Amino acid sequence: LFLDQPLAQDAHLTLDGPAANYLGAVLRLKPGAQVKLFDDRTGEWLAEIVTAERRAVTLAVTRHLRDREPVPDLWLLAAPIKKGRIDWLMEKACELGVARIVPVLTRRTIVDRLNHDRLRAHLIEAAEQCGRTALPDLADLTPLDTLLKAWPDDRQLLFADETGGQSFGQAVRPGPAAILIGPEGGFTPEERDSIRAIPKATGVTLGPRILRADTAMAAAVALWMAHAGD
Ligand code: SAM
Repeated sequence: LFLDQPLAQDAHLTLDGPAANYLGAVLRLKPGAQVKLFDDRTGEWLAEIVTAERRAVTLAVTRHLRDREPVPDLWLLAAPIKKGRIDWLMEKACELGVARIVPVLTRRTIVDRLNHDRLRAHLIEAAEQCGRTALPDLADLTPLDTLLKAWPDDRQLLFADETGGQSFGQAVRPGPAAILIGPEGGFTPEERDSIRAIPKATGVTLGPRILRADTAMAAAVALWMAHAGD
């Protein structure tokens, strides 16, 4: 369970709201039950339930289980897609291990506003489910131009290009990287030119078929992880 507060040995915590409801009413945990907690800073801890009531659960932190995990330095830059699909994208990006997600505004992006809290809730749920002790950062919706203008010299930009490019095996270099996935309508020719003008950009292919943006994201992140994600 993720807690948005720093955890420490022997700390006593009182949870209310959804966290208390989840432990007390959904899982029906009783005093003495053990729960794993993480805080995105100090790693994972074991805690024991001291009291469990409908609206409040108290816990005592008993043991440090592991440090916050090192996360491969991969950013995912993706144009937001419609609701159910972007929720899926958050979940899979978190499970597959990305460090940072940047929703990108492009000419053909169909969504121009994001519910940051809802998307972050999906990241937290996915982290809890897959045992991540570090949450991915979630940036605000950022225009593609703004990202490209300030592109860091040391970060490889792998641009998923449905018109063809290098294979991941050929393209991936050691070190910080980002994968850029376009919107369902693809990038405009001008956007393609600005992406290609970045010295650190490499066009990569995910095969001969046109994948939906969410499929392209999962395939690209999995391929990068397989080549560089230790
Ligand atoms: N509108 C485009 C078209 O019809 O040609 C397709 C865009 S595709 C649905 C969405 C994004 O997924 C693309 O911008 C690209 O980043 C990525 N993508 C899809 N298929 C891909 C492939 N085979 N190789 C690399 N990237 C791909």
